[in-house]
Amino acid sequence: MDPTPFQEVPQSVSTGALPGWLRVDELVREAHARYASEAAGSVADYIPVLAAADPGLFGLAVIDVDGGVHDAGDALHAFSIQSISKMFVYALAIAEHGHAHVRDVVGVNNTGLAFNSLMALELNGGHPMNPMVNAGAIATTALVPGATSAEKWERIREGLSAFAGRQLRMDGEVYRSEAETNDRNRAIGRLLVGYGRLNEDPDEIVDVYTRQCALSVTAHDLAVMGATLADGGVNPVTGDRVVSADVCRDTLAVVASSGLYERSGEWLFEIGLPAKSGVAGGIVAVAPGKGAAAAFSPPLDSAGNSVRGQLAIGHLSRALGLNLFASAPARLEEQP
Ligand code: GLU
Repeated sequence: MDPTPFQEVPQSVSTGALPGWLRVDELVREAHARYASEAAGSVADYIPVLAAADPGLFGLAVIDVDGGVHDAGDALHAFSIQSISKMFVYALAIAEHGHAHVRDVVGVNNTGLAFNSLMALELNGGHPMNPMVNAGAIATTALVPGATSAEKWERIREGLSAFAGRQLRMDGEVYRSEAETNDRNRAIGRLLVGYGRLNEDPDEIVDVYTRQCALSVTAHDLAVMGATLADGGVNPVTGDRVVSADVCRDTLAVVASSGLYERSGEWLFEIGLPAKSGVAGGIVAVAPGKGAAAAFSPPLDSAGNSVRGQLAIGHLSRALGLNLFASAPARLEEQP
């Protein structure tokens, strides 16, 4: 469907605000305490270094669009961003090339298949389909401006640092561990070239993608990054504009449809917020116009989503009234 007719209509925004700082802080602490002893899930082991993560770690953070900060537990513990990088690199690609171009090159539909599926590419004539799974994410990384892969990588590192409001660095150990074992991603890169979807050296693009996945962040950083997307593209902590409001809207739409791997539909049904997770145990959910909640806890469900992270953010979504689909009658029924 051509988006142009819609783009001629001015974009109004959804309204509503979070409760005051004290109430949000109280709820963040409550959610953290409530799920700290949850023992379900297992730590990812397909990237060797991730298997060594401490399953007891649990951090939770909320950042309001007015810059309010709420950190609980291990909110400042560093881990690799992994797949969560996909949503922010996607935002950088749309900022550079525009909505329609990126939609056509990468696609916006759910594949219904695993994040690292080669079959998804084969079934769709080599079209990556979706920027939140590896084929689409690798094609998206290639769209980031830069004459060389080193320039693309620096552009990504700087761009994600602007979302976080501090200089992010790559975790060299995670990068090396993944670079030695990412045959599937290299195969996806070659398949994209074979189908004419990637015109650059696939190994170099996959290397940049592997680096972006190894960026070291905290739950606090992820909440600031998400809150920037909730705040029309302005980082609520630094006050700097990172991307446009249109880029935030486009990014969040794709994240809502596919951010939690094969559980994306279930998550939207239960929690009603765009959210993205990564295999190191990070997860961030964005409430447009209000703020973002992020968590870090390494044990994952079978789809690859942090168990404690989903529970704590789900709790906050309900308690803070963040579900985008929840409403109440405008004219309250009269009390009998
Ligand atoms: N770097 C990981 C990969 O491409 C990211 C996976 C993830 O977090 O889903 O396999």
